[in-house]
Order: sequence, then C-alpha cells, then structure tokens
Amino acid sequence: MTAILKNFIGGEWVDGSGITRNINPSNTNDVVGEYARADRAQTEKAIAAAKAAFPAWSRSTPQERYDALNKIATEILARREELGKLLAREEGKTLPEGIGEVARAGQIFAFFAGEALRLTGEKGSSVRPGIDVEITREGLGVVGLITPWNFPIAIPAWKIAPALCYGNTVVFKPAELVPGSGHALSEIIARSGLPAGVFNLVVGSGSVVGQTLLEHPDVSAISFTGSVSTGRKIAQACVLSTPMKKFQLEMGGKNPLVVLDDADLKVAVEVAVNGSYFSTGQRCTASSRLIVTAGIHDRFVEALTERMKGLVVDDALKSGVHVGPVVDQSQLDQDLRYLKIGQDEGAKLHWGGELLNREAPGFYMQPALFTGVTNAMRIAREEIFGPVAGVIKARDYEEALAIANDTEFGLAAGVCTSSLKYASHFKRNSEAGMVMVNLPTAGVDYHVPFGGRKGSSYGAREQGAYAREFYTTVKTAYTNPD
Ligand code: NAP
Ligand code: MG
Repeated sequence: MTAILKNFIGGEWVDGSGITRNINPSNTNDVVGEYARADRAQTEKAIAAAKAAFPAWSRSTPQERYDALNKIATEILARREELGKLLAREEGKTLPEGIGEVARAGQIFAFFAGEALRLTGEKGSSVRPGIDVEITREGLGVVGLITPWNFPIAIPAWKIAPALCYGNTVVFKPAELVPGSGHALSEIIARSGLPAGVFNLVVGSGSVVGQTLLEHPDVSAISFTGSVSTGRKIAQACVLSTPMKKFQLEMGGKNPLVVLDDADLKVAVEVAVNGSYFSTGQRCTASSRLIVTAGIHDRFVEALTERMKGLVVDDALKSGVHVGPVVDQSQLDQDLRYLKIGQDEGAKLHWGGELLNREAPGFYMQPALFTGVTNAMRIAREEIFGPVAGVIKARDYEEALAIANDTEFGLAAGVCTSSLKYASHFKRNSEAGMVMVNLPTAGVDYHVPFGGRKGSSYGAREQGAYAREFYTTVKTAYTNPD
C-alpha cells in the first residue's frame, strides 16, 4: 500500500485523524488510495489559513492570478490520460469519459486564467453634479466548496477556478466517496505558486468537515453541488449563521427528453442512449424521462432497446466499454429499489436492470428501460441517479411539453424534432435552465452558464463569465473630486 495522502492546510501537507479508503467500483478488491481524514480542528485551521491569506490574495494582480490558473490548466491538460485513468478507476465512468472530464477541468482553469485579466468595473456620473460613481467587484473572502462524487474533478474545477480568479481564498471539501481526483487536483494547485493559505484541501465527511464550514463565522460563502436534501440543510445553515453566508446550490434533476413524431429516429436514439445511460446515468443532467409522442413511440422503443443491447457494461478501464459500474453498493441498492418501485407502480420493466457478473467483483448493472410510465409515478418524479430511464407516452407536442414541465426540478431538458416551430417553441417554453435541441440533455460547454430552475438550483449560475455573480460582491463608490 502506498502512503496515506494528506490534507493541504496553510501551505503544508498534514496528516489527519482517520483514514478514508477509496475503492474501485469496477473491482472492489482494488483500493485506489487511502486519504487522511480531516477533523473539525483541522477544518478550522484551514479556514484560519484561508482567512489570513485573503487580504493579500484579494489585492493580487490579474497577472499573478493568470499565472497560477494557467499553470494549473497546463499541468491538468498535460496529464489528462493519467488523471483520467485515476478518475475512471475511482468513480467508474469509462476511461474516455474520465479523460474527457479531466480535459474539461483543464479547460475551465484556462478559461478563468483569461477571465482574471478581463475583470473590469464601471464608471459613471452621479445624479449629483460633479460627483463620480465607480462600480467595482471584489472577492467575498473565504469560500467553502463542497462537491459531489459524480464529477470528481470537473465540479471542483468549476468552483475552485472562479473562486481564485476573483480573489477569494478556498477551503475545498471533495466527496468522501471519491477523493482521489480532488486530491490530485489539489497537488497540482499546491505547486502552482499560490501563496500559502489561498487554497486548502480538507478531505472528510459532510457531517464533520462540511458542517464546520457551514457553521464557521469566517467562511463568507458556500458553493455546493449535491443532492436536494443536503442542499436544503446547507441553505438553512447559511441563513442561520452569523453573519449570514452567501450560497449557491446545484442539486438534482429529473430531466425530460421529448421525442416528437417528426424526429430523426437515429438521432433520437443516440441522444437518449447518451443522455440516459452514459456515465452510468449518474449525471444531474441525465435524461431520465423519455417523453415520446404516439406516432413514433413504438418505433423509438424498439430502436432504443436494440441500441441498448449493444452497450458493453464492464470494467471502466477496459477498452470498448460503453457503461462502467455504478459508483458503490448504496447507489446500486437505490437503483434496484427504484426498479422494484416502478414495477409495483405498474410500469413495465421493458429491458435491462439485471445485476451483471464481470471478471472482478464490482457494481455492474444492465442499463434499464421502463415503458408504460406515467408522470405521476415515483420513478418519473424522484431522481434515481443510475442507468434507469422511463418512457412516457404523450398524445402530441402540447401534452409532451406539459409533461416535461410537470416536475419539481428544472435543470436540463431536451427535444428531438426536425421542426423549427416545435424546436423554437420548446426552447421558449421549457422550464429548465438548459435546453437542448437534437442533443443529449447531458453535455454542456464550460464558457457559458450552467444551472437550473425550480428545485434544481438556488442562487447564481456557475461557469463562464456568469460565475463572477457568485464569486464577487459589488461595491459602489462615490467621489467628489473638488
Ligand atoms: P450529497 O450526498 O448531497 O453530497 C454532496 C456533498 O455534500 C458531499 O461532499 C457530502 O459529503 C457533502 N455533505 C453531505 N452532508 C453534508 C452536511 N450536512 N453539511 C455539509 N456538507 C454535506 O450528494 P452526492 O450523493 O455526493 O451527489 C449526488 C447528487 O448530486 C445528485 O442528487 C445529483 O443530482 C447532484 N448533482 C448535481 C449537479 C448539478 O450541478 N446540479 C451536478 C452533479 C451532481 P460526503 O463526503 O460526506 O458525502
Ligand atoms: Mg471509489
């Protein structure tokens, strides 16, 4: 066994007070690494280090920020294959998906390196004669970043990069289930030339490390991605803390993909397979409700089922694999529980859902497709977060749109159609934050905003230049030059 990987606090790598084991879901005999677990006192140290580093970092030049972020980007991109392998090994998405996610993290750092040079303010005239007004943006202070297991390098990157870009100091808590990619990213950040305390890593549980971040008066803001139930707790804690904290929540989805009679069947099937099952369906933007109009319904179900039969489910690191394992036993149990719930509710488990045995012990499940789903069923309302999708038959476009919007969530939505009229209408009338036409619901760019509406998101958008709405606070300053 290799050495226990440490936490990074105030510019030093330090031991923890317990160990987190990172298990490979493709082969549960394979321990990916052991990580020192931080406790409350160490989290408080990290917060203190970040607080001490804030005054100088908040006044750092755009060049200093550019240099650090660009250096991080360059190393991530140069090591994408190696880090992609680590990611696939610890999380279970396929190697090409893992490499793609690492590349995305690198691109995000490169984007925010450039953004550091582009931050400007505004200058205007007061309504009072002779008086100038300036509007500038400043960093918030110490930000706590809490991330989920399903994108263990891209989500940390899209929080850490803008936080640093806009002059904040960071305490980063990765998901305990999958700390390896976040740790590797932290090693890269640690040698980027940032002053001690600007960036801190604390591996540990939500209830200890996460909770300490939420309660501590020196943490100015929390950016969170994860489940709705944790998000609610975070919102409450941020509002109840003194002083109140700024917060941003990215949470679950029950994303609709509408397939209309006039869709190109091949395109629709590819869009559905990608959106529903790639990354083992463990994406907040996964299409879990396939809303299909009556004229194409049977052909679509048949073609999708045929396509699913060709999906290779196996060890994430093997070449030619399309779908890796589920991330762990408890997520697999949840997926299986929903397969039963769906059948008990009267939906038909049309294909898949079996547990699969592969060379090594792992959490392998055949991607599953329900038909005969109604939008009132729990499998159509609750996020399953696995390779499970359900087909809901709709009479026509109008009914399909109504079903698509009839959800507590509003992250992503898609439509497959060859009609400009329906595509335009859907873009205008979908109640989701991100809308896709003839494209998978999952799959977004890094230079434009990411986020949802209704129960999926709370607060400012992430990514692209919009990220500054969260990571800066605006100052309005008046001068009487006479
Ligand atoms: P989760 O259980 O809510 O955990 C997310 C993070 O919050 C983890 O780091 C977790 O720590 C931490 N946490 C848990 N309880 C906490 C508490 N009381 N105080 C502070 N922090 C706490 O979510 P998950 O299972 O990792 O991720 C799956 C969920 O994420 C799904 O619902 C998915 O839709 C959502 N997601 C959303 C987006 C989006 O952008 N909308 C993107 C990806 C995923 P531990 O290390 O202890 O678990
Ligand atoms: Mg793991």
